Amino acid sequence: MKILVINCGSSSLKYQVLDMPSEDLLCKGLVERIGMDGSVITHSKTGEDKVVTEVPMKDHTEAIAQVMKALQDPEHGVVKEMSEIGAVGHRVVHAGEKFARSVLITDEVVKALEECVPLAPLHNPPNLLGIEACKTLMPGVPMVGVFDTAFHQTMPPESYIYALPYEYYEKYGVRRYGFHGTSHKYVSFRASQMLNVKPEELKIITCHLGNGASVSAVKYGHVVDTSMGLTPLEGLVMGTRAGDIDPAILKFIADKEGITLDEVDTILNKKSGMLGISGVSSDFRDVEAAAEDGNERAALALKVFAHRVRFYIGAYIAEMNGVDAIVFTAGVGENDYFMRELICENLGNLGIRLDVVKNKVRGVERIISTDDSPVKVLLIPTNEELAIAKDTHWIVTQK
Ligand code: ADP
Repeated sequence: MKILVINCGSSSLKYQVLDMPSEDLLCKGLVERIGMDGSVITHSKTGEDKVVTEVPMKDHTEAIAQVMKALQDPEHGVVKEMSEIGAVGHRVVHAGEKFARSVLITDEVVKALEECVPLAPLHNPPNLLGIEACKTLMPGVPMVGVFDTAFHQTMPPESYIYALPYEYYEKYGVRRYGFHGTSHKYVSFRASQMLNVKPEELKIITCHLGNGASVSAVKYGHVVDTSMGLTPLEGLVMGTRAGDIDPAILKFIADKEGITLDEVDTILNKKSGMLGISGVSSDFRDVEAAAEDGNERAALALKVFAHRVRFYIGAYIAEMNGVDAIVFTAGVGENDYFMRELICENLGNLGIRLDVVKNKVRGVERIISTDDSPVKVLLIPTNEELAIAKDTHWIVTQK
């Protein structure tokens, strides 16, 4: 069965078509500048060069229509007609406490996701627009929602309740939800396959280190804690996000700079993190190049980032009373062997021994700890689209 995977942002849309259960990637693409001048679709059929087409797309429905056109293109397409697409899997960021796993999208599900919009005002609306557009243009094709928050729903209350007046949880759902769940789930299960040990027997710490970054403690196949919170701002230092800070800093900066809380929020999300400390860039490659050239703030940013990851690793070892495996994934986790080395430095007393030679690779699945390391360290490229296609295929083929 051919599965179309859709990840809709506010002005962009990523898509892939995978054949399931063989897991073959048939094509992938990206639509950018939806609703703006110069909207463009970049389509790549597996094994072929990219085809870039500039075409006006005033909204997500027009963007999906262009994706459908690209999929059926006689030269670069992957289907003769859309009826060959057996199902659509949609990435949805926030499902609140409503869904602990992927579900078939019905009108009730859409309503439930609309109720989660206040929790993810930037992300859920475009996700919902993608669902609506597919419903209009591909009537009758089953659709599945795969949620970033779902895998984290197994956390116990002591991990997800903030020490605020309890009524904010009851009235507004203010609690830790966690994100990147599809990735944490995918890499933790791959780790158990690579180690040939059942997930129910493993304590794993998964480090999803990309532009957005989060760490999860996965005990016996279930998340028991994760570093992101009500929103993806909490936890690690990220490309442009501050991660954990003293909450009193918000008012302090607002008062000192004479700016509003909205403006402080923008600073914490867009101008902080690696960019904020280094003053160079949010991209680790740029920050590392600057540090090598002697830029001290760039070097400091890298140390602060590693410090925070180590901090969470230590906390989660305590929480799970041990750890069997640590997994690195996403842009930085998969590619940046310097950062992996910095993070794992001097953790030998915790049984974490990185093999610096095996570690010197990018983007391959590999065990990168020494053979005698009590805790295995794994490098596992994430594949959220495959995870979405798998869930979608499984759900639509259940009778
Ligand atoms: P997201 O999906 O959150 O946008 P990614 O997981 O794609 O992020 O990660 C993107 C980040 O990965 C880039 O900003 C860059 O900092 C980092 N990255 C990618 N390749 C490398 C590399 N070779 N060395 C260091 N960092 C890298």
